[in-house]
Amino acid sequence: MPSIESLLASAELPDSPSARLDAEWLLAAVLGKPASYLRTWSERELAPEQVAAFDDCLKRRRAGEPVAYILGRQGFWSLELEVAPDTLIPRPDTELLVETALALLPEAAANVLDLGTGSGAIALALASERPAWRVLGVDRIDAAVELAERNRCRLALRNCRFQRSDWFAALAPAEFDLIVSNPPYIRADDRHLGEGDVRFEPASALVSGADGLDDIRRIVATAPNWLAPGGWLLLEHGFDQADAVRALLEAAGLEAVESRRDLGGQWRVSLGCKA
Ligand code: GLN
Repeated sequence: MPSIESLLASAELPDSPSARLDAEWLLAAVLGKPASYLRTWSERELAPEQVAAFDDCLKRRRAGEPVAYILGRQGFWSLELEVAPDTLIPRPDTELLVETALALLPEAAANVLDLGTGSGAIALALASERPAWRVLGVDRIDAAVELAERNRCRLALRNCRFQRSDWFAALAPAEFDLIVSNPPYIRADDRHLGEGDVRFEPASALVSGADGLDDIRRIVATAPNWLAPGGWLLLEHGFDQADAVRALLEAAGLEAVESRRDLGGQWRVSLGCKA
């Protein structure tokens, strides 16, 4: 039977930009081991059923399916999250939103809302870092709310909860110290929608009208009614949308409006504060 190293060396993923890493993640998952195991035990021979299971994974990957959906999980912040095709796969870019949010408020008790929570990634990351914050994550899609709740249970976070709501529509009256969102913000005609992982992700989590700003406009128009005085609205957006989003935040009467760059140097989040 082939060794771990020979199996990895012969794994063919011609269309993947990260072929070797993909193969390592998939094989580690098949073996139920951390990726470091593959290097430590590179000479170890595998059983036929392990080879077959790995081949199945490679077939799915060659058909374009994202590694995160094949594994059913994805790391985000310090958390391991279950993911499913009903929701966006959490991106490293979005860790900027978490980092910015954590720096905006003191560690003391605060009321926080995550709009369009998907897998619950942002809400759960904030709840895990700030035990005194109470975080509510909402999503329009039932399967997302259920997925986020499963993630919350597995992580045993008790300062976070999830409910179904189309943006603010189903919320009980409340005042939030911080509202965060990574809404859909891709233009309907963006050619990237036909390439790579996003082909498998739900359009409802990605696409937002002709200029990609439909949902951000809706959120910004309503959010001030739901912010406590001094409360913050913090949004992720596309690399070329920062000017437009800041203009929307200012038009909604928010103050101290600014944008921040992600690790790749792209303007990725914008924020504003209610007077
Ligand atoms: N950043 C994601 C992408 O470019 C889009 C996420 C979103 O629309 N919220 O694929």
